[in-house]
Amino acid sequence: MPAMPEPHPSAASSTDAPAAAPNPARATTALPDAVPHRYEAFVAGLPKAELHVHHVGSASPRIVAELAARHPKAGVPADEAKLAEYFTFTDFAHFITVYLSVVDLIRDAEDVRTLTYGVAENMHAQGIRYAELTVTPYSHIHRGIPGEAFMEAIEDARLAAERDLGLVLRWCFDISGESGIPAADVTLDAATRLAPAGLVSFGLGGPEIGVGRPQFKPHFDAARATGLHSVPHAGETTGPETIWDALNSLGAERIGHGTSATRDPDLLAHLAERQIPLEVCPTSNIATRAVATLAEHPLADMVAAGCLVTVNSDDPPMFATDLNREYAVAADLLDLDEHGIAALAKNAVTASFAPEDVKARLTAEIDDHLTTWTSTSAGDRATR
Ligand SMILES: [Zn+2]
Repeated sequence: MPAMPEPHPSAASSTDAPAAAPNPARATTALPDAVPHRYEAFVAGLPKAELHVHHVGSASPRIVAELAARHPKAGVPADEAKLAEYFTFTDFAHFITVYLSVVDLIRDAEDVRTLTYGVAENMHAQGIRYAELTVTPYSHIHRGIPGEAFMEAIEDARLAAERDLGLVLRWCFDISGESGIPAADVTLDAATRLAPAGLVSFGLGGPEIGVGRPQFKPHFDAARATGLHSVPHAGETTGPETIWDALNSLGAERIGHGTSATRDPDLLAHLAERQIPLEVCPTSNIATRAVATLAEHPLADMVAAGCLVTVNSDDPPMFATDLNREYAVAADLLDLDEHGIAALAKNAVTASFAPEDVKARLTAEIDDHLTTWTSTSAGDRATR
């Protein structure tokens, strides 16, 4: 999922949209209810890194309830049971309404802290040890939260999450592409003049069709000149040419989604040869209809071509998923056992911009989990 408040790219306008506008409700109910999972416990206990997940898009009903109670006039239910209903999307327009109503609940720095720390708690509960959270400063600055106060709030939450939960958070600031150059200017200013300590990368979300990647080249050049990594969304709802644009114009070091890469063998070979990671979000792709069905998801083709793939959740509560579920989906699509799942988790560490000591620690924790799990399982078998 891209930056909001505009609709998802695949439904951003009637001209952009595939034959039918995405319908998260229908699409998510089309997913298997019980993702297979003999490996559920293994995945739940697996230390994980997540690289493609959005800040507001991670607001769970629990967090929204807290914000709604704080701002009762906003008309959003403050009761978690009612919110579960509120989060059941009847159509795409409803999804956008809900998303925007969540954005509108974030009115001051305290709300930003509540959202960010709440998201960190949810990550911690899933066994996530490191995450690069995509934040869209423009959405909040544009609504009147001063940039400095916003930065202070997310940094407070980041430091608290590391101290209390052992979760290492880093930021990706993304341009909401649909808001054009003014949004890009604000985002660049946030990423340079106001750069918080945890910022590692610069991104681009929003609709792809009609929002050419190359127009943001000056912003990416300037962000990269300060040492930020380039991680635009590309090829989610458009073809491989957008991914080429992201690589050639924006210096992309990872590709957000990159779903259409498999349509261009030269591109796929290029991504594989350079080991440019792909941030794959299977359930999101189905929910937004970037991909029609899980059976048609290109993940296996990406892996077969030798690409470095990572698995991510994008906007988890909005798509009724979480990172553990995405690992289960990927394990199913790729027919992985515990060793394969652990290798997938290590891909995310490799592809991350985490400090080297965090990478080493997380890799060792993944290995430990696998060793403990396989030896315990062997022990179980031996006693049977
Ligand atoms: Zn996204």
